[in-house]
Amino acid sequence: MTHGKKNIMLILSSPSGAGKTTITKKIQQKYHSFKISVSHTTRRPRSNEIDGVDYHFISQDKFKNLIKEDQFYEYAEIFDNYYGTLKKNVDELSKTNDIIFDIDWQGTKQLSKYKNLNLIKIYLIPPNKTELKDRLIKRNQNSSEEVKRRFNAFDEDIKHWKDYDYILINENLENCYKQIERIIASKKQEIISNFQKAL
Ligand code: 5GP
Repeated sequence: MTHGKKNIMLILSSPSGAGKTTITKKIQQKYHSFKISVSHTTRRPRSNEIDGVDYHFISQDKFKNLIKEDQFYEYAEIFDNYYGTLKKNVDELSKTNDIIFDIDWQGTKQLSKYKNLNLIKIYLIPPNKTELKDRLIKRNQNSSEEVKRRFNAFDEDIKHWKDYDYILINENLENCYKQIERIIASKKQEIISNFQKAL
């Protein structure tokens, strides 16, 4: 993977409905260096989603072709759909920017194999399961069947927490955001120190 030696790659994983989108937007507003990696997916767009902004929405055939051509840094099948991060997009972004990835544990595992990246791996969880269910239902973007599936996936996700650097509980959005800010600041400091040592 080609990337600027000093840029950060922040992975933010969470069950659907843990407040990840809000936090991602807040990071981007404050730190203009951070850009979101827009994934490709075969999932249908929700009514509030924009092609090219939320995802690049593509067909199964196209996605499978991209897999065959080895165009993804990582991809996974989640809830019967494919989601993936295109190499070309990340390489372009990482020339000048820090990147936020909104990907699941499978993708996190695959990106972790690239040892020369300044990865920060954060798993964001809601304070409890009731809250998670409430948020999923309130969001009203999935059928009741899908809400159930997404809710149940949480138990599988828990098994992969060990692959992350930090598990943050999003009890209070502002506090959670501040914790992420501190994590970013300390990683930046670490990168600068390593850079100075290498001079
Ligand atoms: P949703 O359908 O709610 O937008 O996303 C479902 C799950 O897919 C979320 O956990 C999200 O983090 C994950 N996801 C989105 N894009 C990617 C991707 O490019 N790669 C992987 N591995 N997971 C993704």
